[in-house]
Amino acid sequence: MKAIVKTSPEPGGLALTDVPTPIPGETQVLVKIKKTAICGTDIHIYNWDAWAQKTIKTPQIIGHEFVGIVETVGKQVTNVKPGQMVSGEGHIVCGKCRHCITGHPHLCRKTVGIGVNMDGVFAEYAVIPCENIWICDERISQDVLSVLDPLGNATHSALSFNVLGEDVLITGAGPIGLMCIPIIKRAGARNIVVTDINPSRLEMAQSLGATKVVDVRAEKLTNVLASIDSMTEGFDIGLEMSGSGAAFADMIDNMANGGKIAILGILPDDTKADWSKIIFNSLTLKGIYGRQMYDTWYRMSALLQSGLEDDIAKIITHRFDYRDYEEAFQLMESGHSGKVILEW
Ligand code: NAD
Ligand code: ZN
Repeated sequence: MKAIVKTSPEPGGLALTDVPTPIPGETQVLVKIKKTAICGTDIHIYNWDAWAQKTIKTPQIIGHEFVGIVETVGKQVTNVKPGQMVSGEGHIVCGKCRHCITGHPHLCRKTVGIGVNMDGVFAEYAVIPCENIWICDERISQDVLSVLDPLGNATHSALSFNVLGEDVLITGAGPIGLMCIPIIKRAGARNIVVTDINPSRLEMAQSLGATKVVDVRAEKLTNVLASIDSMTEGFDIGLEMSGSGAAFADMIDNMANGGKIAILGILPDDTKADWSKIIFNSLTLKGIYGRQMYDTWYRMSALLQSGLEDDIAKIITHRFDYRDYEEAFQLMESGHSGKVILEW
């Protein structure tokens, strides 16, 4: 089969390669991949940054966002059948540790990432453990089903704190920050302010229903706040979706006392924030890794079935044949896109 493989430990270093089609083990599922989406993580691997250098072992098939059709299943698999349309949770957990056996597998210390610590899904076929398979509602478009993984990141973050009647700041209007907007609107947020440094992404944020968008290169968030009549005490809830230390520091400066922040963006080690504000203003910070298994999957599927699908479809801006992956990666890296899909 054809697969997109990170062949060499250097920037770029991807090749469309002929590799053996994997054979599913007794508890595994072989999926014929239909569509995959490119994640920020794939861009880190493409760019071969410090994180990728210490994490990825070449050669490896990359990618973890997918939808496909079940081709065959291992002997012991009973939860899914050939022909079903499926996506899957990209984090494989141990199933034995305290968190795994007490219903919190998203906190497993032995988590292994598909397409990160093992071969991924940017291929004609992929093998997935049956526990990680999510059977899809076939009324939802395949494009949207291919981005359930990042939509799960957004859902997990956005529903971490009760936003009903609250004022919410989203720093970063990348695909995941954008996905948070229609979710928290549905969950009853009052004002939704979104910051970025990319005008085209801020335009998307506006069209998805943000109350106000702020290009932080041109405007100070604090000044913008003063222009929203109903907001006098700062943001009740923050969703850090940029991975920018400057954005995080700005968020800390603009939170109401007692505010709560979910951090999904991968902040640099040298990120500085005003600790006295975090402490004396009684802020709560919550790190978010992946999706809550499988609460997030149920909630986002229900949201998609009740109208969220149309909003998520707007965030998918480009589609490429998998053979044109190089062009797709360069577009994604440029920031002039929402979500980019590879069709197999
Ligand atoms: P992305 O890189 O496409 O989006 C980040 C956005 O932040 C971009 O639009 C960028 O222009 C914007 N930005 C940069 N500097 C900014 C600033 N100073 N102020 C405001 N915005 C700024 O990423 P994404 O795919 O949407 O993911 C969001 C973040 O979440 C990334 O940091 C990603 O690495 C991280 N992530 C974490 C997990 C997890 O499990 N914790 C999972 C997936 C992604
Ligand atoms: Zn575990």
